[in-house]
Amino acid sequence: MKIITILGARPQFIKAGTVSRKIMEHNRLNPEDDQIEEIIIHTGQHFDANMSDIFFDEMQIPKPDYNLNINGLGHGAMTGQMLEKIEEVLLKEKPDWVMVYGDTNSTIAGALAASKLHIKVAHIEAGLRSFNMKMPEEVNRILTDRISDILFCPTKTAVTNLENEGYTLANESKQNQILGRVVNVGDVMQDGALFYKNLAQKPSSFSLSDDESFILCTIHRAENTDDPKRLKEIVEALNEISKEIQIILPLHPRTKQKLQQLSLSLDGVTIIDPVGYLNMVWLIDNCKLVMTDSGGLQKEAFFFEKPCITLRDETEWVELIENGFNTLVGAKKEKIIQAYNIEKQTTDDRNYKQNLYGGGQASENIINELFQYTQ
Ligand code: UDP
Repeated sequence: MKIITILGARPQFIKAGTVSRKIMEHNRLNPEDDQIEEIIIHTGQHFDANMSDIFFDEMQIPKPDYNLNINGLGHGAMTGQMLEKIEEVLLKEKPDWVMVYGDTNSTIAGALAASKLHIKVAHIEAGLRSFNMKMPEEVNRILTDRISDILFCPTKTAVTNLENEGYTLANESKQNQILGRVVNVGDVMQDGALFYKNLAQKPSSFSLSDDESFILCTIHRAENTDDPKRLKEIVEALNEISKEIQIILPLHPRTKQKLQQLSLSLDGVTIIDPVGYLNMVWLIDNCKLVMTDSGGLQKEAFFFEKPCITLRDETEWVELIENGFNTLVGAKKEKIIQAYNIEKQTTDDRNYKQNLYGGGQASENIINELFQYTQ
């Protein structure tokens, strides 16, 4: 079986790296007839050393076979150029499957290029919905799902979202169904979290004593960075909270640029450059609380048994909210501070052992499904 994996943004390196490791393990354990040939296309959407290269090096992800170097463009030009270049590679490589991850421009470009060439598309992290069509990610994920042949859902909620849109579960059939095999395989990020937990490394770029409590914070969603009012309120809240507890914030390049443009400064916050995954895992595992607008980090907080405050108006990971692991606060200063004050006084006796994301078998399930569906 020949697979082309398309990736381009940080969370995709982490997710695809986990699946690639399973593919390599599969190849070691299986005879020649059952081998998987994986070819990796890096679109270039994220290209800084600490947003891209470090993940390939540290996580031992196979180096991309093709690097398209497409970045720094608006949505239209970026997606268009990716579509053109990915098509060229697909025509040359003729894979059985194109595998795309999540909800970025690289995801939709890869899926669309493959679909037009009648190459089967596998979408990992299918079925997630924020129900906010202003998010570029929401547009990308809905369209990618619609042209995927197999939709690998990470949660029951994702499956339900697809059923509500007219998709049918694998092995079911109904009238007017949307074709596409919907399977709940679990979340590949849980596989990764379990594996990398033992490899975590304390960051050395700044000093932090072993017994110091801190909040881990990340901000990068366009809805926060591109709205001056929201960004200002978040900055003010973080400055206020940092008077009580250290906040460590690996700063995304987009947020850095916006803060500079608006002359906003995070005075009391410990700002660091984006870190690699091994440092990140250490920070998650050792923090008191996570505050974020990241999708992936909301789940990682749960995997590492940390409470999370999410600086968004909605989330795709609703099971975390419903079960009390995560608090959705939006971007109002008072609400953020209030949520922090409540969390500070709460004894954390939540049952983090609940199996919301499949328990770490997602990559294996994906490989098994691909074999089953290719025959
Ligand atoms: N992450 C990282 N280094 C950082 C910040 C984030 O390795 O400095 C990881 C984080 O732990 C998670 C992934 O990047 O696994 C999330 O990426 P991001 O927040 O950029 O995207 P999202 O999950 O919101 O799509």
